[in-house]
Amino acid sequence: MDDTLEDRFLGTLFGQAVGDALGLGMEFMSKADVLWYYPTGLNNYEQIVQDDHRKRWLPGDWTDDTEQMTMILDSLLEMKQVDICDIARRFWNWVFFARGVGVGNTVCAVLEHPDYSSNPHAAAQSIWEQSGCWLAANGAIMRTSVMGLWDFHDRNKIRANAEAVCKMTHFDPRCVGSCVAVSVLINALVNGRLPDEELLGEVQSLAKEYDDRIEPFFEAALSSDDIGMLALDREEDMGYTLKTLSAGIWALTHASSFEEGLTQVIHQGGDADTNGAVAGALLGARYGMSAIPVRWLDGLTWREYLKRVSQELLLMVIGQQG
Ligand SMILES: [Mg+2]
Repeated sequence: MDDTLEDRFLGTLFGQAVGDALGLGMEFMSKADVLWYYPTGLNNYEQIVQDDHRKRWLPGDWTDDTEQMTMILDSLLEMKQVDICDIARRFWNWVFFARGVGVGNTVCAVLEHPDYSSNPHAAAQSIWEQSGCWLAANGAIMRTSVMGLWDFHDRNKIRANAEAVCKMTHFDPRCVGSCVAVSVLINALVNGRLPDEELLGEVQSLAKEYDDRIEPFFEAALSSDDIGMLALDREEDMGYTLKTLSAGIWALTHASSFEEGLTQVIHQGGDADTNGAVAGALLGARYGMSAIPVRWLDGLTWREYLKRVSQELLLMVIGQQG
């Protein structure tokens, strides 16, 4: 097996986990709060302020974003296919039996819908329609990284899988388009492509097929030299799927290392754990696990578990037909 492919594959999953665990330190903060709490910056999990929101997790814990991603990963390992009813059962058990900490409002509403266990897509559609087709939160893009790794050799399947897993809870086409964009991009990066104009153009037109409203966020990410232009800490839309997409694309196309990209994104505040999870997955897919600072990997509470399931997934994926 190509060592660099393995490095990028594992880098995707660990990049997400590290971005989530570190981003928690700045979740829901304004940029002014970030400066107040971390005047010299946030560089390790031990610095995370222990306020009422954050003390629910230990330093080095990842949050609901990576929790959902690993539930999908566990399901893939067990079912050997994308089985949305199995994933739905895992989400339900997590929220209602294990009291899933940090779970978002859209996911909760869909999980409580009577159709959820038999037809999650219908439940998600119903909740979305009840919102006036307005809800487009970032609860699906936060867990989509692993969909770029399964059915590794087939872009059409990656696209269909990302759609199916997104629509289990988030039916809006902006959510589906942003999940497909991130999953396809991760797959291309792990396969060794660079985030050049050609690849970004392909992904941008793919995303546009789902909803025209995606394009301006993609463009803003590509054209803003200063990440501050993305206003990631603006309260009105900090949990919006397209804000998170733009944070990830910005990091991928402007940073020259994993550490620099992730640090820039989370220090913007806003939904920093989710923006960090998506940016971390994209940066990990590009630069590989070997580029993630060792203190961030070693400090992860569930590092050994993630290492085991990531390696199992890698072996299974390599065995899939090309
Ligand atoms: Mg979270």
